[in-house]
Amino acid sequence: MGAAIPLIDGTAGARLPVKPATGSPCNGCGWCCAEEPCGVARKYIPDHPAEGPCLALEWTEGRFACGMIRRPSHYMRLPNDWADGVLGDMIAGALGAGRGCCAEDP
Ligand code: SF4
Ligand code: SF4
Repeated sequence: MGAAIPLIDGTAGARLPVKPATGSPCNGCGWCCAEEPCGVARKYIPDHPAEGPCLALEWTEGRFACGMIRRPSHYMRLPNDWADGVLGDMIAGALGAGRGCCAEDP
């Protein structure tokens, strides 16, 4: 899990949630997105590296969250944020947000 180190630094020493078993409710541990960027990140975030932690992974209120759901215009470098709600909902649907932990156990 070496790729997650830059993200852990961004938590200012917070105690991170531990990845739950595959299929359990997502607890925002961030492991999946720190391991590798998903298809949404690679396709829609300009110049996103193919490997390494996702640039849109955000640490907020004690858990990691997907920045492409929260504020996609920021990461897509759109000129304004008026479509963030619609885009974020579409991305959440495409990612299967709310359907439990989809990452295989390490
Ligand atoms: S989907 Fe799983 S690995 Fe990814 S943040 Fe949620 S609990 Fe963690
Ligand atoms: S775009 Fe969102 S779901 Fe995809 S890797 Fe980045 S933070 Fe995770």
